[in-house]
Amino acid sequence: MRTVNVKASTQYDVLIGAGLLRDAGWWIKSAAGGDLAVVVTDDIVAKLYLSRTVASLTGAGYKTVVFEIPNGEASKTAQNYIKLLDFMAEAGVTRSDVVVALGGGVVGDLAGFAAATYMRGIPYAQIPTTLLAAVDSSVGGKTAIDLDAGKNLAGAFYQPKIVICDYDLFKTLPERVFADGCAEVAKYAMIADGDLFNMLGEPQLDLEEIITRCVTIKRDVVCEDEFDTGARNLLNFGHTVGHAVEKLSDFAISHGEAVAIGMVVETRAAVFAGLCGSERLETLLQTLKKCGLPTKSPYGAAELADAALSDKKRRGGVITLIFPSGETGCVLTQTKVEELERIFAAGLEGGV
Ligand code: NAD
Repeated sequence: MRTVNVKASTQYDVLIGAGLLRDAGWWIKSAAGGDLAVVVTDDIVAKLYLSRTVASLTGAGYKTVVFEIPNGEASKTAQNYIKLLDFMAEAGVTRSDVVVALGGGVVGDLAGFAAATYMRGIPYAQIPTTLLAAVDSSVGGKTAIDLDAGKNLAGAFYQPKIVICDYDLFKTLPERVFADGCAEVAKYAMIADGDLFNMLGEPQLDLEEIITRCVTIKRDVVCEDEFDTGARNLLNFGHTVGHAVEKLSDFAISHGEAVAIGMVVETRAAVFAGLCGSERLETLLQTLKKCGLPTKSPYGAAELADAALSDKKRRGGVITLIFPSGETGCVLTQTKVEELERIFAAGLEGGV
């Protein structure tokens, strides 16, 4: 087992290992205490891992109640959020009890936001069951629900008490969901750790090493800028175009697939602008293809720019874009919104 300690506004451990679910109850009890555990999960994860999770929590002395949502992004709603708060109130949950998010990013974001706001905040633990949740959404304390007007529009910064990442749980992931997580790993490779490209290319992935490296990068960025006012923007590499693609496809293109396309467009634009060499684009393209991810935008520059400008990250007439720079890493650039379509056009030029 590997441990990454996060020193944000609250301090907590991310445990990464095989078979950790068995002792999850004990780890949660040590980190968060409490008598009652509210397990939040989705229908698919419940069938696979709920009974083992409840057994572990019960073994550690918890009483448990379970709140289950249908799987998928369509469940990350204000309606389910209110239902969950009502459920906790009816179950008599107090501020010393604990919420346990057992699932992917959808469950983690919803459960985290409920924990952040129920009685002005109660402890919560994350048990990520997708690669994407392990390397990204379970760490760093961003919690949210979607509104009709857009994704993640209501939320809070609220750190968990512990994250327990048992990568044995990823054996049941559909290929497409696993590939979504690989897109986020490729993102970390572009922003901070080129070795991750080699690791993603191995026939047998060393998940413990890959997840530990990604979580460490995320930890470092979050500790520098927990509330997303500067450096944390780096984690959005590929996401400006990615969010636009996701939205234009009405979410038929998944988050990871959209980020893969976004990274390619943004990297090609950086090559065009002379910020980095074409070898960085080539490495990215090869890796994404190997992971079964798309690399071509089905949308044109004008559509992408329009969709990107309705994103919440726009500030006045300026938008922050993240571009690969030099031989490794990425830089933040403040770009005038009028420039966006031209930049995206450079990113699409020629296609691949
Ligand atoms: P998800 O939670 O929708 O899970 C994807 C699918 O995999 C679901 O159908 C789920 O039931 C299934 N699944 C989960 N674990 C499984 C397992 N072990 N075996 C079989 N099936 C399993 O999607 P996701 O990709 O994990 O997360 C996407 C969400 O994360 C989005 O809402 C996104 O906005 C959010 N996100 C949040 C942050 C953050 O910092 N909070 C960062 C990135 C993404």
